[in-house]
Parts: sequence; C-alpha cells; structure tokens
Amino acid sequence: MSQNLTIIEHPLVQHKLTLMRREETPASSFRQLLWEISMLMTYEITRDLPLQEVTVNTPVCQTKSPLLSGKKLALVSIMRAGNGLLDGILELIPAARVGFVGLYRDEETLEPVEYYCKVPDQLEDRLVIAVDPMLATGNSSVAAISRLKDEGAKEIRLLCLVAAPEGVTCVQKAHPDVSIYTASLDERLNEKGYIVPGLGDAGDRMFGTG
Ligand code: URA
Repeated sequence: MSQNLTIIEHPLVQHKLTLMRREETPASSFRQLLWEISMLMTYEITRDLPLQEVTVNTPVCQTKSPLLSGKKLALVSIMRAGNGLLDGILELIPAARVGFVGLYRDEETLEPVEYYCKVPDQLEDRLVIAVDPMLATGNSSVAAISRLKDEGAKEIRLLCLVAAPEGVTCVQKAHPDVSIYTASLDERLNEKGYIVPGLGDAGDRMFGTG
C-alpha cells in the first residue's frame, strides 16, 4: 500500500481537511478551503523538482541562484471535481499547461466512459500532475491515467485530497509507475462507493449541487 504513496501530514493540511469534512461547511467555505489546501499540497508534490543555478545581478552584486529546471508541468483535471483543485495549483505554478479529462460511469457496465479529453501537446516531455479530489474505487483515475499515457505522458503524479485503500490499490496495480499524493488515507468505501468517513460528494459540496 505504501508503494509510491505519500500522505501529506502537514498540520495546516490536516486542519483544513477536517473543516472540509464537516457536513455543515457551506459550499463557499468548502471552495475556499480547497483552494488553500491545494496550494499547500502543491508545495509537497513539487518538493523534488530539479533546480539549476543561474547567474543573476542583484542590485548589490552578481550571484548564482537556483531556478526550476527540467520538465515543464502539465496539470490535468479529472472532471468535474478535479477542477476545484486546479486554481490553487495554478496560483503557485501559473505557467503550467492545463488539460481536462471527463469521464462518467456507465450504469450498466459500471465502467468509466470518456466524454471529453483535451490535453496539452508534448505530454511526453512534461511532468503531468493529474488531479482528482476523491480517489474512491480508482476506476476513473485509472482510465484517465491510461488516456494520458495514450497521449504520450511518461511521468505522471496523481494528487487527491482523500483516498480509499481500494482506490490506492486499484491505481497501484494498473499504474505502478504513478506516485499518489493524498492528505488522507481513509478507512474504506461504503456500498454506494463513497469514501468513509470521507467528505461526501466533492463535486456537490464544491458547487452546491446534489
Ligand atoms: N466521489 C466523491 O466525490 N466522494 C466520494 O466519497 C467518492 C467518490
């Protein structure tokens, strides 16, 4: 289970997640907290990005100082709830390209069906961060990651706010090369496919639907 799995235990992340879990938290606060928590999680998911020393002239003297080097980033939202995580990440990485993969669950086969896909070009040269707040069964994340690989992506990280053990196992089996980052590994899925204790339907909580 711990293979390629990072649980972000920073106290601010844990505090904000607890506020988001509360059923009485209104959609406006939920969105604000998601924005804040996604910035904090971005700090963790980008912690190992490579740096390169460059020469700069400060007003005082010339010096060498580090700048990000290496692959450019692509952020991919697994819709619709993934969109709520994007803004905070873009706040910190404004130059990242952004893609979207939309999937729904076929009620007969229970398999994810793609209804939309638009991703940045040259995915093979980018570090791709796929975002989906709730890693529940893992089926849609697995399908979205497969699609990104079909589009050429070679290095993919998956950022989710809350994960169920079932979803983590599902992604690890299908895509052992993908690192998963989450704020919480919750207990389990219930019979309706909701994460327990979870926070309910993330899309509904974000957008005030449902
Ligand atoms: N999707 C959600 O938004 N919440 C869950 O608990 C499971 C899937």
